[in-house]
Amino acid sequence: MEKLTYPDGKAKAFTVSYDDGVLQDARLMELLNKYGVVGTFNLNSELMRREFQWTHESSMAVRRLSESAVLRLYDGHEIASHSLTHPYFEGKDRAFILREMGEDRDNLERLFGRRVKGFAAPFDYWNPLMADCARACGFEYARISEESFSYEPPTDYYNWRPGIFHLDDRLDTFVDGFLETDTELALCQIVGHSYDLDAAGMWDRLESILRRVSRCPDVAFMSTIDAIRHLKSVRGG
Ligand SMILES: [Zn+2]
Repeated sequence: MEKLTYPDGKAKAFTVSYDDGVLQDARLMELLNKYGVVGTFNLNSELMRREFQWTHESSMAVRRLSESAVLRLYDGHEIASHSLTHPYFEGKDRAFILREMGEDRDNLERLFGRRVKGFAAPFDYWNPLMADCARACGFEYARISEESFSYEPPTDYYNWRPGIFHLDDRLDTFVDGFLETDTELALCQIVGHSYDLDAAGMWDRLESILRRVSRCPDVAFMSTIDAIRHLKSVRGG
């Protein structure tokens, strides 16, 4: 039997998913656009209104982008919800979760004038009630924080584990393995925050990864939602 593929017969898909909507997203966007990589950006609409900022352990100030700064920034990339205020969800009830998910989606849809169909969990907490609420809010997937270290795309779209966090020591090995694997519908998803790239001084390292992947003719660059819609269609559900 022939192997299933991504659009245009590509054997593999590559995607990145970045959280929090911070200042460094502008530099990241230049890099993604230079190599034709399509990203997913997970935003907290309420914190964008407040121009929220905090101090990173490296003593760098991490600043959120304001509503006016983001309007055109993410053109050509996916916008997803990361909850209204980035709370820790453990112990929260259904009404609280639905509000954090649903109002964020509504705000982002109004602000960007497009549908928002993905959710990325803030922090590293996830539970079945949250998955149920994400479904009830009409999201087509919910990305969690726990990494899979696998090229096999998850089959549970509401407990979607990304491949690897970008500060993981194994990042280069993981990407090299992706370029070599013959896993059916192989997917490489890298997640992180763009401020990490400043804090860890790893812009060049990320660029060299994107350059390597962009030279591989077998790889489709897709947003998370497009990859998941495609997977649902070829896998039947
Ligand atoms: Zn976050």
